[in-house]
Amino acid sequence: METRLDRYQGARENKIRQLKDLIEESERIVFLGGDGVSTESGIPDFRSGDGIYNQESGLAYRAVDVISHSFFMEHPEDFYDFYRRKLLYPDAKPNKAHKALVRLEKRGKLSAIITQNIDKLHQDAGSKKTIELHGSVFRNHCMDCGKKFRLDYNLNTTGVPHCDRCGGIVRPDITLYEENLEHDKVDAAIKALKKCDLLIIGGTSLTVYPAATFSQFIKHDKVVIINKSSTYLDLSAKLTIHDSIGDVLDMAIPRRRTPEQIKKDEKLIAKNAAREKAAMEKAKLKEKG
Ligand SMILES: [Zn+2]
Repeated sequence: METRLDRYQGARENKIRQLKDLIEESERIVFLGGDGVSTESGIPDFRSGDGIYNQESGLAYRAVDVISHSFFMEHPEDFYDFYRRKLLYPDAKPNKAHKALVRLEKRGKLSAIITQNIDKLHQDAGSKKTIELHGSVFRNHCMDCGKKFRLDYNLNTTGVPHCDRCGGIVRPDITLYEENLEHDKVDAAIKALKKCDLLIIGGTSLTVYPAATFSQFIKHDKVVIINKSSTYLDLSAKLTIHDSIGDVLDMAIPRRRTPEQIKKDEKLIAKNAAREKAAMEKAKLKEKG
């Protein structure tokens, strides 16, 4: 007898097959990911039930207020106390989602990963085309002289880390509330979105600016949503899968390819290389005037 679980799994397999087909027929895929991509690496997200915003902050302030520019400027000590306890996961390892996206990139099909995460797990997995919209905890700089510091500098100090050259406050290169995103990153993200032929949105409830507005740059109807909870784009998306991002991507992007796929991928990689070369030459000519 068919049970509800069988029906659910049938629906799930069917959706993963659809996603596989969409990936097969696409050549310039963009992945837009949120904090749900990192939860399977043991990093809590922000907004879910046991997310960072719902955890006890350990301070007299709400977590959501602590990670703002004004709070950092007024209470750097409290900021760093919270930051070290809640936002740094130096031992986290990439999960199935990160690894599947690396396979996609190696096939020549992925033109960019746009991430809201600050944990560098995409790069750790081996992705080269990552746009870190909100920066990275692995990069830090002195607010006075600009000297750059690695994450270790923050991990190996207590209280507010100060610059060993000028004594200024060292801050992480992450975008706090009330701060603007880096223009070149937003531009790169929009450029990739405009050129993509499939957008996979994963592990985000699509409530954080600017990712929430990115779908307006898509000129096609091929948007896939993979998220445990619902998003405002669920009904208009080509395909919506409410499931684990790691499981779904792992199944939709298999490790083994057929000989036909390998041949097709090789052609695509050659085409991408030719396109990149042409773009570089065009940029050079422009530079020369
Ligand atoms: Zn300095």
